[in-house]
Amino acid sequence: MIDYRSLTRKELEDLAGNMGLPAYRGRQVFKWLWRPGLSGFHEITDLPSGLRNVFAQKGRIARLKVATEQKSVDGTIKLGLGLDDGLMIECVVIPEKDHLTLCLSTQVGCAMGCSFCYTARMGFLRNLEASEIAGQVIAVMERLGLEERPRNLVFMGMGEPLANYENLTRTVQILTDELGLNYSGRRITVSTSGLAPEMLRLGQDLDVGLAISLHAPDDEIRQEIMPINRRYPISALINACKSYPIKPRRRITFEYLLLQGINDRMEQARGLARLLRGIPAKINLIPFNESPGLSFKAPSEEDVLAFQKVLTDAGYTAIIRKSKGQDIAAACGQLNTMPLLHTRGRCINTNTA
Ligand code: SAH
Ligand code: SF4
Repeated sequence: MIDYRSLTRKELEDLAGNMGLPAYRGRQVFKWLWRPGLSGFHEITDLPSGLRNVFAQKGRIARLKVATEQKSVDGTIKLGLGLDDGLMIECVVIPEKDHLTLCLSTQVGCAMGCSFCYTARMGFLRNLEASEIAGQVIAVMERLGLEERPRNLVFMGMGEPLANYENLTRTVQILTDELGLNYSGRRITVSTSGLAPEMLRLGQDLDVGLAISLHAPDDEIRQEIMPINRRYPISALINACKSYPIKPRRRITFEYLLLQGINDRMEQARGLARLLRGIPAKINLIPFNESPGLSFKAPSEEDVLAFQKVLTDAGYTAIIRKSKGQDIAAACGQLNTMPLLHTRGRCINTNTA
């Protein structure tokens, strides 16, 4: 069965060609696939009914099942979404002043093993297909009855996006297609724990925002909290940033998670300022969000402000990111679908939609 929602417009046009149809039939199908609310090929009214049947027989329109919905006191909404094989992912809708930001997952779990991250505790179950990544946007729009698409998309949910490179790039191509949801690359940010070769590939292949989870200015601290640093040390990341094609007036975002007593001292703030010199950078400071079984602590507000001051004094834009949705475990690093599950990721709660 073809998973139509994993196909780019071009691939659907080629598929139509292989079926002996003109390319525009593929375009027509693509357009309909990315309209929220579509339930099946019978609704594609500008296709002749014979063709609707042919398409329906050859493949399927993948849909994510909303299994759980939680709302935070700050308005953040977390959806638990069931996949066809019974696994679960989470995605988070974050209300900002006049728009929504959607935080998307790219894998079920994560293999990177960062010691401060609750998603890492699930281990890695599998990559998401493009239909399952882009489908989160559709699932949110349908569930919340949104007329307009959420303004910003951040790939900061469960998983390491660049470890699922093919499906990530395919997803971005689908989401930015003007016949689909028509996102601008400027509204999309991909966050990575630092897979240097894929960072460079991303810069060449797509025009999206890049965020790097740096979290330490030196290898000693970084490899203690992020095992990936042994494969790609800080020098490799910085070199990749220096050859990353950055458009004028755009910057690379550096995320810096603050862990009390580990990476939050003035010495590290100064080290960070030195390290990023010469790179068009924006720094997001994220105080640690707690999760069961993780023994780190967030620094005091005073320490966070002092850390920020070192960076702003050095001329950087450094923003303290107050994580939203903490009361429903929807903040950075708190996503995990294991507590809902029986055994290795099987969903036991998919019928509450
Ligand atoms: N895997 C990607 C994207 C998902 S994580 C990455 O690591 O970049 C999104 C962000 O949340 C990352 O910057 C990550 O380091 C951060 N994060 C993870 N655990 C956290 C925690 N407990 N508190 C605050 N931020 C956390
Ligand atoms: Fe994976 Fe990102 Fe969590 Fe690290 S912080 S374990 S890369 S999801």
